[in-house]
Amino acid sequence: MKDCIFCKIIQGDIPCIKVYENDRVFAFMDINPVADGHTLIIPKAHAENIFEIPADDLAAIHVASKRIADGIRKALNTTGIACLQLNGKGVNQIVMHYHLHLIPRRPGSPELPMTKWELVSGNMTRIKEIGEKIASAVK
Ligand code: 5GP
Ligand code: ZN
Repeated sequence: MKDCIFCKIIQGDIPCIKVYENDRVFAFMDINPVADGHTLIIPKAHAENIFEIPADDLAAIHVASKRIADGIRKALNTTGIACLQLNGKGVNQIVMHYHLHLIPRRPGSPELPMTKWELVSGNMTRIKEIGEKIASAVK
């Protein structure tokens, strides 16, 4: 898609540090890494988010994420890898081309901000009400 920076990266119009590609997906290093090894996996066909991406591309990304996570773990001796994926401006999606973040943590490095939330008990009545609402909306 015109004016999409990730489409331009796939086409080679914007340089990147590629780590993997196949017929459906492309993976490269994030230039603002949250931690060493921060990698992005994207579909070659432009789709904005989880609501738009075709199931085959979504599956291909998640299958490739295992291969790439195995590579990151082997290369960097990680203690864990967070998989993060944002959909919509409301959750701070910045680049509107679907992407899965793989963010590793290495021994001795600081905790990742997105894996550190405090567990606070919820109101079970509210949880049940919302869960039932979602369940009846899932097709
Ligand atoms: P989002 O908040 O949309 O999930 O994250 C977008 C990500 O894309 C950010 O982590 C940002 O650093 C990364 N990014 C934005 N522009 C470029 C670019 O031109 N090249 C690379 N390699 N990463 C980018
Ligand atoms: Zn795009």
